[in-house]
Amino acid sequence: MNKIARSIIVICLFFSACRNGNETKSDSSVADVKDFHTLSNADSIILKHLELDIKVDFDRKQISGNATWLIDNKHELKTLKLDTYDMEIDSVLVDGKLAAFKLDSTVKYLGSALEIPIGPDSRYITVYYKTGKDAIALQWLDPQQTHDKKHSFLYTQSESIYARSWIPCADGPGIRFTYRARVEVPKGLMALMSARNPQYVNDSGIYHFGMEIPVPAYLMALAVGDINFSKIDDRTGVYAEPGMIEKARYEFEDVGKMVSTAEKLYGPYRWGRYDVLVLPPGFPIGGMENPRLTFCTPTIIAGDRSLVNLVAHELAHSWSGNLVTNATWNDFWLNEGFTNYFERRITEAMMGETFIEMSWAQSYEDLQIAVNELGKDNKDTWLKLDLKGRDPDDGLTDIAYEKGSLFLKLIEQTVGRERMDSFLRKYFDEHAFKTITTEEFLAYMDKNLIKGDTAVQNKINIKAWVYGPGIPQNCPHIFPQRFVVVDSAIKSFIAGKPVDKQTASAWSTYEWVHFLRNMPKPLSAAQMKRLDDNYKFTKTGNSEIADVWFVMSIASDYKAAFAAMDKFLSSVGRRKFLEPLYTEMMKTTNGKKMAEELYLKYKMNYHPLAQASIDKIILGK
Ligand SMILES: [Zn+2]
Repeated sequence: MNKIARSIIVICLFFSACRNGNETKSDSSVADVKDFHTLSNADSIILKHLELDIKVDFDRKQISGNATWLIDNKHELKTLKLDTYDMEIDSVLVDGKLAAFKLDSTVKYLGSALEIPIGPDSRYITVYYKTGKDAIALQWLDPQQTHDKKHSFLYTQSESIYARSWIPCADGPGIRFTYRARVEVPKGLMALMSARNPQYVNDSGIYHFGMEIPVPAYLMALAVGDINFSKIDDRTGVYAEPGMIEKARYEFEDVGKMVSTAEKLYGPYRWGRYDVLVLPPGFPIGGMENPRLTFCTPTIIAGDRSLVNLVAHELAHSWSGNLVTNATWNDFWLNEGFTNYFERRITEAMMGETFIEMSWAQSYEDLQIAVNELGKDNKDTWLKLDLKGRDPDDGLTDIAYEKGSLFLKLIEQTVGRERMDSFLRKYFDEHAFKTITTEEFLAYMDKNLIKGDTAVQNKINIKAWVYGPGIPQNCPHIFPQRFVVVDSAIKSFIAGKPVDKQTASAWSTYEWVHFLRNMPKPLSAAQMKRLDDNYKFTKTGNSEIADVWFVMSIASDYKAAFAAMDKFLSSVGRRKFLEPLYTEMMKTTNGKKMAEELYLKYKMNYHPLAQASIDKIILGK
């Protein structure tokens, strides 16, 4: 069978499937605002459904195959434009017939537009392609870079605009489509996507996927490796490498309960299953909310379930982000600010009020750090961003996450929790599977929550938060009861008094991080040794605590921790941890040398996105 014939069969197969589920939702699939980060013209042509047929080749480190788009050329345009990034295009078919195509020159950050001539009635556009070696979404791991060190592993990270490096697509958060996929992988490995997923390895190495709910391209995801599945309950489970699966299963025991808790707050979970995939150590971020299958870093497997609130965050995205999506990357806070707020509400319901106060306090601290780094008058500290002509990842700062969530906390404090919750429930229901801009949200909030009440308006001062810099004066600043004990432990330690290990034994990660962050810097070598002798920080299995401790160790030149830090840097790829460590090292001449040596040794263990961040820190580019 030749490529063209196979393509036509595929088209016939999916046509009836996508016709049903998507028609009613197609009106919401195109945002009526300009998204400057897509070169596609999906604002005029609707891309309803994707049929993907790809092969994963670990020897060449390449994905090849074809992507067929079902389009609705409602404005009778003559050209369809798709986003691509470092991609080789072999051929293009329009309704099964070979078509001429043009790959435009590369635009910084955005890649190249693929231009395809179409007619008013054109329906199926098939692109045969291969990914390039700079396909930024893909991380190809050799066996020694995985947990078990036996098989190669591949995973994708498509947010923000990297889906275009492995699928020719219309790559904007405001463009939603359904998809089905056939993925061929080496026999013995399992493939997973942000879709209906297998739970067992099959003999053929060919896997079929379906996502009948429309999603934007940044939520396209694929992972391939030696992966096992373990059930948590009827709708939740965990995937991981065989050597990690038991630990992961233990850590995520409460995930089923988390989903029910979230539903009690803001309505039904609408995606069917909720599973978590624990990736090998090089994953550059904490987690990625790929629908039905959160991708997460193994750095949250602490052995004592102390870091699982990261899963609450990714789960919360099933409402804020995946269900109601920011229309452009300028509105990113609508995804992350809401998700941080929602995450804390889930965690509060499960862990109690005094626990979550500590998270809110840390949120304020993180916001202060972000504002200090960016500069208090910097426009990047507004909630509404202006990323035109820039890398959309410039907006990936704690402003969206922390200023965004603290803004919602302020609204909650102003209108009361009951009103806030019924408003949010209604907001998610009425905007389900739609995209929204900041301005649309503000208008919706005014109509449904504030209702023109000037006292409330003045108290909140929306303008200062959304279109103003820095930390607004009315920012909630919560002082947790549980930090009182920690603060007195800090004072007592500095005064050289005996250490109270009994009290500290019940501390959570928040208390430990607060304890270390609020020590004077740098501590003397003797003080560092005293802390380490008492609390064994150098040996901790908790990555959050380890990271703060290693930063302090660099600042204090506490060499006893360096071997453990070396191991940490070799096995952890999460930018949140790498950036502070390399930044601290770069502050002194000796440290610079150490940073350069370590980076040279471990660069290949990091994802291209993490490499780009560390390049900036070390090389200043
Ligand atoms: Zn998030």
